[in-house]
Amino acid sequence: MSRRFGRSLGIDLIPHKACSYDCVYCQLGRTKATSLDREDFHPPGQILAELKGVLAAGPPPDVITLAGSGEPTLYRSLAEIVDGIKGLTDVPVLLLTGGALLYDPEVRRAIQRVDLLGPSLDAGDEDTWRRINRPPPGLSFDRMVDGIRAAARENEGRVRVEVMLVRDLNDSAASLDAIAALLGTIPLDGVDINSPVRPVPRTGVHPCARTTLERARELFGAGAEIIASTRSNGSGEGRREHKGLDAIVSILKRRPCTVEDLSAALGMHPHETSKALEVAVQDGTVSTEVREGEVFFTKSG
Ligand code: SF4
Repeated sequence: MSRRFGRSLGIDLIPHKACSYDCVYCQLGRTKATSLDREDFHPPGQILAELKGVLAAGPPPDVITLAGSGEPTLYRSLAEIVDGIKGLTDVPVLLLTGGALLYDPEVRRAIQRVDLLGPSLDAGDEDTWRRINRPPPGLSFDRMVDGIRAAARENEGRVRVEVMLVRDLNDSAASLDAIAALLGTIPLDGVDINSPVRPVPRTGVHPCARTTLERARELFGAGAEIIASTRSNGSGEGRREHKGLDAIVSILKRRPCTVEDLSAALGMHPHETSKALEVAVQDGTVSTEVREGEVFFTKSG
């Protein structure tokens, strides 16, 4: 469930952490090798056949989201997937992307038919971008921003940028001003302001203060919205909705685990594990501890 989009059917086009970035706030852990090389990780026909089966089996979702375990624009036959979905259903298609490959005209052509494009833009300058998103060598900040700007022009009226604000990394007054100035040069439908409220595997990553989020909303223009708090507690993601939570707590009674350990043990997507852990940490059932730079979760008490 997504508060904004309702019932979202996610399609994961890529293997775990095939990504162009290695963001410090990534819930999925480290990217072993950042890449800009596009590939068909699974045959497009197989993905579309699976989708056809899912759509036939149940009530239609409110939105189909291309996102998942890494960077969806790394999937080479993305145009075939988008066109294929459009041929199967009228359900709107949302694409969430780090935005690193939007400089490539072929990628931008592939996403022309999506109904909503959500690229990330977490910095207003090259140094901050390198610290937060850790792009691969060979990609410059200006090239990345030009790509987002071109995609925003070509998908006019259907682009919302997401800005993730991380305490002490990009939440200073100067950083917010730089991001605001850059956003002002891109034709956007709106800006979603987020902060890492969910548990992440990396240490030293914290959400910024509520007052900073509010300041960012003032600076980022009329279409700016804070989504950090709604993801944290307002998305219908309470304890009852997390069927995996009891199993997680049962494992944590026996030994501390990382998000990745729990996901592997329970066959859950790391996003789902992370959401469930967020609920458990908030209600005090589970606590965190840092060991050799990694965040482990333990049963409290
Ligand atoms: S772009 Fe997304 S999947 Fe890739 S490292 Fe950043 S947060 Fe993780």
